[in-house]
Amino acid sequence: TAPATPDRPVPPVVPGWTHRFSGKVRDVYAPEGTHPDGDVLLLVASDRVSAYDHVLPTPVPGKGAVLTALSLWWFEQLQDLVDTHLTGAPVPAEVRGRAVVVRALDMVPVECVARGYLSGSGTAEYLQGGSVCGVPLPPGLTEGSRLPEPVFTPATKAAVGEHDENVDFERVVAEVGRETAEELRRLTLAVYRRAAAVTERAGILLADTKLELGRVPGGDGRLVLGDEVLTPDSSRFWPADAWQPGRTQPSLDKQVVRDWLTSPASGWDRASDSPPPPLPAEVVERTAAGYREVYRRLTGADLPG
Ligand code: ATP
Ligand code: MG
Repeated sequence: TAPATPDRPVPPVVPGWTHRFSGKVRDVYAPEGTHPDGDVLLLVASDRVSAYDHVLPTPVPGKGAVLTALSLWWFEQLQDLVDTHLTGAPVPAEVRGRAVVVRALDMVPVECVARGYLSGSGTAEYLQGGSVCGVPLPPGLTEGSRLPEPVFTPATKAAVGEHDENVDFERVVAEVGRETAEELRRLTLAVYRRAAAVTERAGILLADTKLELGRVPGGDGRLVLGDEVLTPDSSRFWPADAWQPGRTQPSLDKQVVRDWLTSPASGWDRASDSPPPPLPAEVVERTAAGYREVYRRLTGADLPG
């Protein structure tokens, strides 16, 4: 195996499970030998944080636990809309609280994004041609504007270190067929609408969110919701009381990190190729508190454990 780097740290040893691969944030394991529950995976959420397309050299303690608990909470809210990959099988003690045992899916190679507000790559595309992923939008919108209605803005998954590429609906059709493409769009928008109503009651605007869906190999062909759902890593959550179109909106989770990285104190030049510096302890602590606060505001409860 390749040596560990800040971008690729050593995944934890989990008895009974073999490390398969790691994404930016999750370490994915398959069971050693045969598993009584059939084909499953263990998804372990690390405390790694990414900002400005870099995985930061400093982890944020408790972040993996927040993302895991929040995903579990959302999966429950969404049960009646879509099947989920959760199995409910017990999680090994070594990673309890920040891992889930899931059905191994054949993932559909499309990042299913729904947007209710214009931001990031959506704004960039809109300013170039007045549309996002082939969906025409009214004139006069700006960074942070609310869209007349939520839109499905799919993207193709990029290799590590590269940006996902926004694509139009017909590209998804070419990739996965019309029936699947339409089902992806329907489910993504249904999940977005349900979730946006929930976050709004908590004073949080759901600007956009990304879902990943797949199918159980040899199963009935139905699409199943996988990965994480509606976490600060897969979504833009904006405090409603600070919403002000025309500028970058503050975010509850990573604002402290972003502000510090772009301040003179960090000594880091975002435009350069250099990796970001380690975070000071005080920034780490405030960021960890921000993640816990997202969980508390959305679920109305403190983080379990
Ligand atoms: P992204 O930034 O797009 O989320 P990533 O590099 O952050 O990608 P992680 O979230 O760190 O990815 O790792 C999770 C990985 O596990 C992803 O590749 C995701 O597609 C995959 N995955 C999630 N759920 C399942 C599942 N039920 N079956 C198979 N693969 C899954
Ligand atoms: Mg992911």
